[in-house]
Amino acid sequence: MVSVPVQCPYCHSTAVIKAGKQANGTQRYQCQNEQCERRIFLLQYQDRGRALEVRRQVVDMAINGSGIRDTARVLRISPTTVIAVLKKSPRASRRQPHVAASSSLTRRPRPGRTRRRAR
Ligand SMILES: [Zn+2]
Repeated sequence: MVSVPVQCPYCHSTAVIKAGKQANGTQRYQCQNEQCERRIFLLQYQDRGRALEVRRQVVDMAINGSGIRDTARVLRISPTTVIAVLKKSPRASRRQPHVAASSSLTRRPRPGRTRRRAR
């Protein structure tokens, strides 16, 4: 018998366990790495928009200024999938100011505004 180790496509960890099956019968896997951005994954996706490669392209295109419909057309996935991927992507959301980042941003313009008023 030959066993092929399953590797997590996100963190490349081999600490992976089986995690039931999809409704269509495809085996699901769970990554045991605590720091992994994605816990559940499949080795073969039926849905193009769920594959890691396509998800990365969605984020890259968004960062390079492509709109949701542009991205959907080029990658042959639905605009709804593009939005769903972007909402879940930690890389894309990092570009938006978080609570901690926005508080530091609001602190900085205040002396600038008073200086402009003085001039
Ligand atoms: Zn992982």
